[in-house]
Amino acid sequence: MNILLLGSGGREHAFAYKIANSPKCDRLFVAPGNAGTADIATNVSIGITDFAAMKEFVLANSIDLVVVGPEEPLVKGVADYFASQEETKTLPVVGPKQKGATLEGSKDFSKQFMQRHQVPTAASATFSKETIDEGLSFIKKQQLPVVLKADGLAAGKGVLICETLEDAESSFREMLLESKFGSASEKVVIEEFLSGIELSVFVATDGKSYKILPEAKDYKRIGEKDTGLNTGGMGAVSPVPFAKGEFLKKVEEKVVKPTIEGLEKDNIDYKGFIFIGLMNNDGEPYVIEYNVRMGDPETQAVLPRIKSDFVSLLYAMGTGTLEDYELTLEDFTTTTIVMVAGGYPGGYPKGDVISGLENETGTSITFHAGTSISPEGNVVTNGGRVLGITGKGNSIEEALSNAYSRVNEISWKDVYFRKDIGQDILNYGK
Ligand code: AMP
Repeated sequence: MNILLLGSGGREHAFAYKIANSPKCDRLFVAPGNAGTADIATNVSIGITDFAAMKEFVLANSIDLVVVGPEEPLVKGVADYFASQEETKTLPVVGPKQKGATLEGSKDFSKQFMQRHQVPTAASATFSKETIDEGLSFIKKQQLPVVLKADGLAAGKGVLICETLEDAESSFREMLLESKFGSASEKVVIEEFLSGIELSVFVATDGKSYKILPEAKDYKRIGEKDTGLNTGGMGAVSPVPFAKGEFLKKVEEKVVKPTIEGLEKDNIDYKGFIFIGLMNNDGEPYVIEYNVRMGDPETQAVLPRIKSDFVSLLYAMGTGTLEDYELTLEDFTTTTIVMVAGGYPGGYPKGDVISGLENETGTSITFHAGTSISPEGNVVTNGGRVLGITGKGNSIEEALSNAYSRVNEISWKDVYFRKDIGQDILNYGK
């Protein structure tokens, strides 16, 4: 099979790694890719929303399957585009159409979806500029803290947890009246605060059947012990020991099944991944959010744990034949440590030469995110989150030790990474 993968992050390098290692893959192209994908596939300089250029490429290179990594092309309708074009209307695409992608593109839409299909989630109401007064009196009736969410895509920054009534009221006004998150905050969801432990569950679906992939825990804050600014993710661990048996059964019965059935009932043709952000609140799962693609860095921990053929999984998703696919998993644990450029998530330099990338052993995998190849042929930094190092082991301790050994071999000017990934899990219940 010839496969076109869209995206350029660590998630896409992890996809490329799994695809390139499958005997079902003939040629793999990544648009636009990074220095890591260039090693195992052919990078193509097509932007992730340049659908016409993609179509031309697909036809010229006999592409059999398109796999979409990030949310932006999905929300902008890449799957609808291929389905609407005569020459590509039967081309399997892994990634939902625009309507399904609205589960991530609009928090109001996803809350209504959850309420309609009885998926457990925090109580909420949505307001706009026209209903700002009702919103302000609604806030007054809420317990603190209260959660405000910009309706649209806000690069992961559109959620505010307000500890005081004053903060909630002023943030609510800023979101609606001063476009705090641009057009994303034209509508604001006000939501009950849920306490508990967060967890990410990943589901592969063809819209009728589903397979639950390994769960993961991620680490969003820049600083150790979960302090400082939010980031795109500083690490991940899979599996998550506190999410065993009973709880995962509840997740499947109360969340995954009604979600897939809801898609069918609403006539949403969904062939792709659903990444469900969950809160474990006293043993009960509540959905915090849906994402319509895999998460990053969790993908870098989750995909290496899939044993069964990955290209067959993607093809079954894209062709509506997932029922016949048998998902099997590896027994080992994975931990991913994200290495970032100094200054991230604020400003950071680019173009620093990365050393120590050679000689990887089988106990770790180095995934590239913000990297590129300089004119001199060096691998250099080209983003905030630069590399994700996944360690494998028979326990979290062993996986962490393998990951950090590899991390310590690699360096560039002002590199930063968290040294406490997984420690909360090791200390859990102690
Ligand atoms: P979201 O973009 O919806 O995933 O929200 C970002 C982060 O805000 C989540 O990962 C949670 O840590 C937090 N969050 C969102 N909604 C709630 C809620 N209702 N209660 C508590 N924390 C929340």
